Amino acid sequence: NLSERLKRVASFVEEDTILADIGSDHAYLPCYLVHAGIITQAIAGEVVKGPFESAQKHVKSEGLEKQIDVRFGNGLEVILEADNVQTITIAGMGGPLIASILEAGKDKLTSVENLILQPNIHAKAIREWAIKENWKIVNETILEENDKIYEIVALKKGQMQLTEQELLVGPILMKEKSTVYKKKWENELNEWQRIVDQLNIIAQSTEVQEKKEELEIKIALLKES
Ligand code: SAM
Repeated sequence: NLSERLKRVASFVEEDTILADIGSDHAYLPCYLVHAGIITQAIAGEVVKGPFESAQKHVKSEGLEKQIDVRFGNGLEVILEADNVQTITIAGMGGPLIASILEAGKDKLTSVENLILQPNIHAKAIREWAIKENWKIVNETILEENDKIYEIVALKKGQMQLTEQELLVGPILMKEKSTVYKKKWENELNEWQRIVDQLNIIAQSTEVQEKKEELEIKIALLKES
């Protein structure tokens, strides 16, 4: 039974695309996509032995060894030119880690058309990387599962410009302003405000002042968005 989070990632995957799921753990996502008849070929990449073996076991138990190739390696290094990978999914990690995996594997992205990324935190790092490397946001979504809020960002090649607010909260999510989105940013605002209040009470050193001002700018940006 796939989590709602991974189902939503799966819903962004185009039919018949050749997929590489990086940091696949149990390879739940590629297995689901093949069983659902959405794709027929995938690579599941893992850099840690335990999850790599879990992926191998799960793919075998599902009888999908012919369709899903489980490979051991760091980030995009498991992708070969001959694979003709069109879509990469990276889910369940922090935004900065996802961005660093993409940055380190840049040379593997020439044939790739779609990046579907699900950062657990700090999606901003992904939007910043996308702008720098000429990828544009084509879709975004936000969901809550088990008291956690997740964002999904889908990219295709192309240029985009984002304001400071859009970088932080996501251009599409900002327009939609869903209930979950409002909840996420209300929580963040409350947390930042709590810190500012505490900084106001403790010693007024320059360092503390700077931290406080930095947070106040972020709060103002978010309130405007
Ligand atoms: N993608 C699955 C999901 O969303 O449920 C698993 C998420 S799990 C929290 C993150 C996985 O990414 C771990 O199994 C970890 O070993 C793997 N991972 C982290 N850094 C990686 C890298 N540089 N290359 C490949 N796998 C990586």
